[in-house]
Amino acid sequence: MARIIIIGAGGVGNVVAKKCAREKDIFEEIMIASRTKAKCDAIAKETGEEHITTAQVDADKVPELIKLFNDYKPDMVINVALPYQDLPIMDACLETGVHYLDTANYEPKDEAKFEYSWQWAYKDKFEKAGIMALLGCGFDPGMTGIYTAYAQKHHFDEIHYLDIVDCNAGDHGKAFATNFNPEINIREITQKGRYWQDGRWREVGPLSVHRPVDYPNIGPRESYLLYHEELESLVKNIPTIKRARFWMTFSEEYITHLRVLQDVGMTSIDPINYQGMEIVPLQFLKAVLPEPSELGENYTGETSIGCQIRGIKDDRERTYYIWNNCKHQDAWRDVRGQGVSYTTGVPAMLGAKMMVTGKWMKPGVWNVEEFDPDPFMDEIGRYGLPWNEIVDGKLAFNDYD
Ligand code: NDP
Repeated sequence: MARIIIIGAGGVGNVVAKKCAREKDIFEEIMIASRTKAKCDAIAKETGEEHITTAQVDADKVPELIKLFNDYKPDMVINVALPYQDLPIMDACLETGVHYLDTANYEPKDEAKFEYSWQWAYKDKFEKAGIMALLGCGFDPGMTGIYTAYAQKHHFDEIHYLDIVDCNAGDHGKAFATNFNPEINIREITQKGRYWQDGRWREVGPLSVHRPVDYPNIGPRESYLLYHEELESLVKNIPTIKRARFWMTFSEEYITHLRVLQDVGMTSIDPINYQGMEIVPLQFLKAVLPEPSELGENYTGETSIGCQIRGIKDDRERTYYIWNNCKHQDAWRDVRGQGVSYTTGVPAMLGAKMMVTGKWMKPGVWNVEEFDPDPFMDEIGRYGLPWNEIVDGKLAFNDYD
């Protein structure tokens, strides 16, 4: 039915490629293209499938991408490289008439700042070209937006309070490692925290606001208020939201490592001169840390990510909690990956399936909550990410201060 190119052959690329490879009647021909072709070859070999080819591409370079797309003639591209590549890949899609999906919003390399404005600015151009871009179709962003859209459709007349709660209670046995690309991860969590309240953004110091959150099957874990990109699209697309926040767990040990690395300057993105060579400390740090795709085999424990929502239904106050728990070892058994890559890659595959089967297809640039959540929610469980919900029952936390 569709020819696709998956760009990026890291932790998430591995999951997307293997999940797509099993859907032969949907994704008839698949290419994995990335900066390091050997990584694409290794993933393709593990699938044992013949309808998968590989290629080398530098996705920072629009002409290289255009040539690749013109040669392979894909219907769509799934971008699971880094956020820096979002705009070049979207430019190449526009030139060649190819649909687009990603899991993280654009970030410029020289500024640790992420927001949708750069990609939303492509809306008219995509519409005119008759092609679609689906932004942020991983877990968070991704499932969290779809969960919120599902809550809005089935359980609320008005959503007022949204808290996204994200816990990784896994143990990979390393002293310090990040679960997705270290450079992107550290840029994200060393930023100021930000949340939406009463029509405007409020800022707090990095990791300065925290609280215990009681995660299903895991228990209470200290969780830190972060800025996360789906907050931006959700408060725009669901304007009744009065407050939207995002909470994520970090262990004390993780925070101590991070603090030391920050204090000694290793998380800086400002280039320095080292023995006559210009290097970026954070990029050097990334090079010495374990890669996300290496963490899977001995990873134990599970993730739990969900949305806790309060609002109004039929003139009465309602609470709602919807979540998924994913065991790292289940992800390993399914695709030889770890849970964080898995919870990102599975929704990306299903989002692509929604697009190429026409269930989610309209020209323009969209976030996931702008589509009917039902066909997605009907299928995500059988691909490995079943969900649970509680209406007017136990929440992850009760005090709403
Ligand atoms: P990895 O670092 O494991 O993989 C990134 C891949 O992109 C690598 O294969 C890398 O190549 C490739 N790449 C980097 N630069 C280029 C380039 N210029 N041209 C071509 N390929 C390039 O990261 P993850 O797999 O963990 O993360 C992938 C994406 O998923 C990130 O954008 C991340 O932010 C996002 N993500 C989203 C989540 C969500 O829930 N929405 C959660 C987790 C991640 P090489 O191997 O040569 O380095």
